[in-house]
Amino acid sequence: MTDSYDLVVIGAGSGGVRAARMAATYGARVAVVEEFRVGGTCVIRGCVPKKLYVYASRFHDLFDIAPSFGWQVEASFDWPTLVANKEKEITRLEAAYTANLEKPGVKIIRDRAVVTGPNSVRLVGEGRELNARYILIATGGRPHIPHIPGAELGITSNEVFDLPVLPRSILIEGGGYIAVEFATILAGLGVDTTLVYRGDCILRGFDQDMRRGLEAGLIDRGVRLIYQTTIASLARQGDEVAATFSDGVTAPFGAVMFATGRTPNVRGLGLESAGVELTATGAIAVDAFSRSSVPSIYAVGDVTGRAQLTPVAIREGWYFAETVFNDNPQAVDHSLIPTAVFSEPEIGVIGLTEPEAATHGDIDVYLARFRPMMNTLSSRTERMVLKLITEKDGGRVLGCHILGPGAAEMIQLVAIPMGMGASKADFDRAMALHPSAAEELVTFKAPSYVYRGGEKVGG
Ligand code: FAD
Repeated sequence: MTDSYDLVVIGAGSGGVRAARMAATYGARVAVVEEFRVGGTCVIRGCVPKKLYVYASRFHDLFDIAPSFGWQVEASFDWPTLVANKEKEITRLEAAYTANLEKPGVKIIRDRAVVTGPNSVRLVGEGRELNARYILIATGGRPHIPHIPGAELGITSNEVFDLPVLPRSILIEGGGYIAVEFATILAGLGVDTTLVYRGDCILRGFDQDMRRGLEAGLIDRGVRLIYQTTIASLARQGDEVAATFSDGVTAPFGAVMFATGRTPNVRGLGLESAGVELTATGAIAVDAFSRSSVPSIYAVGDVTGRAQLTPVAIREGWYFAETVFNDNPQAVDHSLIPTAVFSEPEIGVIGLTEPEAATHGDIDVYLARFRPMMNTLSSRTERMVLKLITEKDGGRVLGCHILGPGAAEMIQLVAIPMGMGASKADFDRAMALHPSAAEELVTFKAPSYVYRGGEKVGG
């Protein structure tokens, strides 16, 4: 038997759910096929559980400074309680996502889908074929696992949330945001944490002050950093895993986690049979409207390798539905995307870094570095950093980089004036809110240093 739909969405994650729901709202007959759990990476094993675990880990710092405010705290941590409560919350969200799909009439099919042609999808479990006027591929990505001997002994972000017991120690390989976030989480929960990275500093591509500030913060919290090194092999050693590094050193760890990037989920999807072209990095190649090389097949979210973030996948899914089912073509602007790293200290950034901005012309850099007020009664010396990069002489704000408490929340709001093309003068016009860290952004007087003709002057 063959079922016919206006739209078959493969993957009920951030992008797929939004696209399916919007298309159904516009009157399309929609089916979404999901092989795991409705909600996708973000809800089930990404942003949401991660942020909950970040909150859990932050009690460590709070307990640390509590005596400076007169509190005496005797604390202990129970991992199974956190895992169980996390599970309850993501199950609640999964149900809410399911209801949001079913309300406008989206048919949810729990199966694995394979594309068999420009207008056909096969359900692997049921063996049934679906006809589709349009197919939307929203299959996301999966953790990349290095091809090394013993790699199967390692875990990834997929497994770390549900470990039966918290390991004594962990080795995390990687230098991106997932690696540093889990280093923060696990160290905060009391796990002896080592991070090994092939580069010479974490968070490649981020502003240098953010990178060095977080590096110091991690070290301060007991995270061991090993640079310019990789894991060459893993082997079982009793209850532990022995990691041999590229320099020949071997050491045992309670667990080893790979956070070495994510790969677009295209394997076994049957894209070749439909003639869908991929990019050099193995993502689905799409145009500004998320259309692939096959006119009836679109793709949104991580599988397109544009910006691997939930709000971006959601926006791409929404604009796909606008374009195809509401006769309102919309292209997503990927140029000003606020980004956070939920590490300790936290990072929030938007726009250009100094080296990027300096290639666009002369720029001014305003920099504030100070102890967050929360720490001033304790012996903690960690600094907060706020940086504003503008065109010369108070022109347009090109970049904003914040390291410290509340950075993510601040940068979301900075995204609004920056999206409107705000200048330094617009920021200055705002009345300061005191006492806050964010007031630094509207009270900068003279630049801390400038770039003229691409060269740094002063500072
Ligand atoms: P996904 O949400 O990954 O959904 C894809 C779905 O497709 C999955 O449910 C999968 O099971 C299903 N699927 C795949 N193949 C098939 C098939 N053949 N048949 C049927 N179903 C299939 N982003 C942020 O913005 N902020 C964060 O703080 C953040 N933290 C993260 C932390 C971690 C640990 C990870 C891993 C990711 C994080 N992300 C974060 C990224 C975010 O989760 C992704 O960008 C987002 O989920 C992408 O949405 P998507 O719709 O493209 O794919």
